[in-house]
Amino acid sequence: MAEISLITPVEYLKGVGQHKAELLKKELSIFTFQDLLYHYPFRYIDRTRFYKIREVNGSLPLIQIIGRVVSKEIVGEKQARRLVVQLRDDTGSMELVWFRALKWIDRILHPGLAIVVFGKPTDFNGKVSISHPEVEIYNPAAKKLGNLSLQPVYNSTEKLKQNQLDSKGIQKLLENLTGFPVSLIRETIPEYILNKYHLISRAQAIRGVHFPTDQQELDAAVRRLKFEELFFIQLKLLRNKLLRTEKFRGCVFGKVGEKFNEFYSSKLPFDLTNAQKRVLKEIRIDTQRGVQMNRLLQGDVGSGKTVVALMTMLLAVDNGYQACIMAPTEILARQHYLSIQQLVGVDFVQVELLTGSTKKKDRKRIHESLLDGSLNILIGTHALIEDPVQFQNLGLAIIDEQHRFGVEQRAKLWRKNSVPPHMLVMTATPIPRTLAMTLYGDLDVSVIDELPAGRKPIKTLHLYENQRLRMFGFMRQEIAKGRQVYVVYPLIKESEKLDLLHLEAGIEAISRAFPLPEFRISIVHGKMSAADKEFEMQRFVKHETQIMVATTVIEVGVNVPNASVMIIENSERFGLSQLHQLRGRVGRGAEQSYCILMSTNKLSADGKVRLETMVRTNDGFEISETDLKLRGPGNIEGTQQSGVLDLKLADLAQDQQILQVARNEVIAIFEADPGLEAEENQLLREYFQVRQPGIHWNKIS
Ligand code: ADP
Ligand code: MG
Repeated sequence: MAEISLITPVEYLKGVGQHKAELLKKELSIFTFQDLLYHYPFRYIDRTRFYKIREVNGSLPLIQIIGRVVSKEIVGEKQARRLVVQLRDDTGSMELVWFRALKWIDRILHPGLAIVVFGKPTDFNGKVSISHPEVEIYNPAAKKLGNLSLQPVYNSTEKLKQNQLDSKGIQKLLENLTGFPVSLIRETIPEYILNKYHLISRAQAIRGVHFPTDQQELDAAVRRLKFEELFFIQLKLLRNKLLRTEKFRGCVFGKVGEKFNEFYSSKLPFDLTNAQKRVLKEIRIDTQRGVQMNRLLQGDVGSGKTVVALMTMLLAVDNGYQACIMAPTEILARQHYLSIQQLVGVDFVQVELLTGSTKKKDRKRIHESLLDGSLNILIGTHALIEDPVQFQNLGLAIIDEQHRFGVEQRAKLWRKNSVPPHMLVMTATPIPRTLAMTLYGDLDVSVIDELPAGRKPIKTLHLYENQRLRMFGFMRQEIAKGRQVYVVYPLIKESEKLDLLHLEAGIEAISRAFPLPEFRISIVHGKMSAADKEFEMQRFVKHETQIMVATTVIEVGVNVPNASVMIIENSERFGLSQLHQLRGRVGRGAEQSYCILMSTNKLSADGKVRLETMVRTNDGFEISETDLKLRGPGNIEGTQQSGVLDLKLADLAQDQQILQVARNEVIAIFEADPGLEAEENQLLREYFQVRQPGIHWNKIS
């Protein structure tokens, strides 16, 4: 083999032929030695401990047991045909089950044989068993040699497994790499930082993560690599933030003018909460510095973000600028449009709505009034980032429910003006701090942490299917008091047909229980045209109907204060943030509001936690933390497309502390040395020279 380096193609590694190399590339994107080194184990198995059969239960992870085969038999027919082996130790006995490779296993395992079994126990019908365990003949001598330790487990795929590249096979390849000169693995973090946080070198860490000799070494390796991941994300984010403030001047909203003041003193129908006032002040300070504002506005459902958005727009208008709001759906854009029109009244400022279904002639009029500056505020969907939409002088762009939009869309709004407009990003639901620091780490953050006065906390109840009559009775009682009720069904793509059946059956049951003429029902679902949806929504808004049966199209933004009951069908199938969003549709008026979560009796462990969390708390921040723990950041809505989150080891739910330390360190570095010019920061400077920062801001010129 010629000289090896980090970028040596993986086919040059002992044990990897052409065929396996192709598979590694295709299945795991492993092209080079370096890629293989960076394919970290996702878990380790403690091979130092053996469980007794009495201790085994279905909640344990992969474990190992030493026992003796008592009996074996093949039972069942066709698909259910399986080999069942009774295993016994001095504490009890249990079953091992094989559905595949019966013959092979049958040949190896004989009554009386002592074996080491390795696998994941499951509970089934009150009995514990392990399906398809790994089995080795028990060899006490081998155990004494102490070669059992932390065994890495690597991600693999079906195809790789068929070609001897299961977890063990991959481990083998890494062993073949051990001759690899460690000096080629270059350090990326300056020495003074390593020393400060007692971090081991990169080379040591990569070795330690693949071949830990003990838990301590593994912990040190993992800590170093996690720190590195989080540190460089923060370095990129905060550097972008810094570059932006250096590069772009911002529109100056120097004065609080006539529109803002008039709105505040004679149109605003309520007192602002202290939190709303504080946020407005933060925005006010930020928009008069001559630097572009990039701010994230977090606030729970119903905390009153819309009015803050409106008043910020009035601030822009008072200073001679236009403003826009971009919302993720047509319904939500329309809702913003209506509530803002309602708040400002006629002839106060010029407001228009632009969505995919805006008619051609209206579109033309809007385009013209944007260009001649007569239109002050434009509200719309992503239709408003399309090229024909040109502003005369866009000073403020607000993005609602940001986490459905990608970074690229944010960037498009920037280019709508020669001086980039101030940006205010509003999230639909609170997101956990760690996620905010990572996804929006380049933004300043404002939080509305207070609900408007007089809101009664929503009471949440979880009922099972067999309590449906109780639920109907409750609906009747609330409707008799003059309230309105939402009934929401999940509509999840993969099983759409089935969901539609549920929805239809549900509508029928409700129509029977709530017959005309006493009761009237609105129905809204995704398959309807926008106009039909709107018509049905309006009937409900005007209180012509008392019940709104809907799929999750009402998830965001809808505001009907008289609706005080939210019933969520099949609630176990919704994610936590969605449940919280839905619940936020009620509790907007002065009445006591209720949320009823209907579910089947068969709940998964996670499903149970979700529903319990909803019953326990109304606090969106607490709910989002639980959501993060349950699902991991990659599954939190909107994080996938962000690309900021391709973390290999770090876990935003668990590694808050490392993240905070890394971020603080980066902040300190930029404060002391914004250009990364100091000798000690040379590695960091190189980091930006070598690779393109992954974020799109650099496309904006
Ligand atoms: P969200 O933050 O979920 O977007 P909205 O802006 O839709 O919340 O506000 C929810 C409801 O609360 C609206 O009906 C709004 O008019 C009302 N609201 C907002 N701020 C206040 C306040 N300070 N006092 C009373 N009601 C308020
Ligand atoms: Mg809102």
